[in-house]
Amino acid sequence: MKLTAATSHEVNHWIVQTNYKNRTLLFILLFFTFGVHIAHREVDVLAWLLLTLQFLLYPHLVYWRALVCTAPFKGELHNMMLDGVIFGMWMAALGFPSWISITLLLGTFYNLMVFMGPKGLLPAVGSLCSGALISIGLLGFKFTPNTDVATAVACFLCAFIYLCVMACGVYFHAVRLQETRQRLRRSEQDLKHANQGLQHQINQVHGMQSKLSEQANRDPLTGLFNRRYLDSTIHRELARCQRENLTLSMILIDIDNFKNINDTFGHQAGDEVLKKLASMLRARSSDISSRYGGEEFLMILPSMPLSNAIERAEWVRKTFAESLIPYGDANIQATLSIGISSYPNHAQSPSELIRCADAALYRAKAEGKNCVFVGATPSLSAA
Ligand code: GH3
Ligand code: MG
Ligand code: MG
Repeated sequence: MKLTAATSHEVNHWIVQTNYKNRTLLFILLFFTFGVHIAHREVDVLAWLLLTLQFLLYPHLVYWRALVCTAPFKGELHNMMLDGVIFGMWMAALGFPSWISITLLLGTFYNLMVFMGPKGLLPAVGSLCSGALISIGLLGFKFTPNTDVATAVACFLCAFIYLCVMACGVYFHAVRLQETRQRLRRSEQDLKHANQGLQHQINQVHGMQSKLSEQANRDPLTGLFNRRYLDSTIHRELARCQRENLTLSMILIDIDNFKNINDTFGHQAGDEVLKKLASMLRARSSDISSRYGGEEFLMILPSMPLSNAIERAEWVRKTFAESLIPYGDANIQATLSIGISSYPNHAQSPSELIRCADAALYRAKAEGKNCVFVGATPSLSAA
């Protein structure tokens, strides 16, 4: 895990605090251990003063040094190595007394390896050796490994107390870690649930959006596309057919004498007629059928050659004319006039195609209705 600047500083600070407590404790214990060791020897007051400075003052000085360090964790590691150097110096200065040496070795290895893992091994050896060498260089080599029973007991107690306190620290740290993990897991679950809820809401919004856009593109009475949708689609479809070198046909349908149907059977009956025609136009899914106006319908037939479009228009006209549309007691019958235009035969643009189909429809009406006319330019059809 990569620590952010803030959290990294907190962790560093925590390490400095923990080490401060541990070092203070260890050094107090060592003060008594060393005291026991030199108590029955004839040492001058300077030795006691040195011992006091080393074991009672030094931990506070290095703590302050780590605090003011720009990188407290690094500073603390340096402090631990300094501890090792000092321990090495004391060991050599006292002639490597066995129990004291073991205690100092344990302390140095333990501290460095708790914070650095196996990598702490080398700095521990290095710092102890360099401390010992400095001391030997300054005071000469001495070797008096024997320690009395009191010193041995003091060393044992020192190591025992220190290890117990450290073990408790590690235990409480592990408990806190476990609790944090559980809290994180719970937060993760909560987040997952919240995410699922959000996803559900997003799906609902998407559903509503597509429903709305569907509604915006549909005629509510017939369910066919409306003129708005058609206007945007025709450009796209024609461009595609032009690109792919395909034909495109357009069929414009108008119900004959529709006003009479409304007048005779009522407006609702007229609606039924509109719905019947819409259901016929919907039959082929590849056709784009729309309600173009009141009782006018426009079909776009992408990729359909003119001859097929004429066949299709004739089928619609004939089938519709033969249909009986039940309404109450009556069976309504109606006819259609149809105009057809086709790309590239009659026009090159959507507006020209519509104009052309409209002109053909106009001719169909003029020729007596219930018939299909194929496009001509408006001026030609008017002529
Ligand atoms: P033509 O054969 O020349 O097309 O004559 P027509 O009567 O079909 O055409 P006209 O334009 O005179 O009348 C169209 C009628 O369609 C007028 C209008 O009230 C009716 N109409 C338009 N929209 C609707 C609708 O949604 N429902 C019903 N029932 N009638 C509608
Ligand atoms: Mg009309
Ligand atoms: Mg009409």
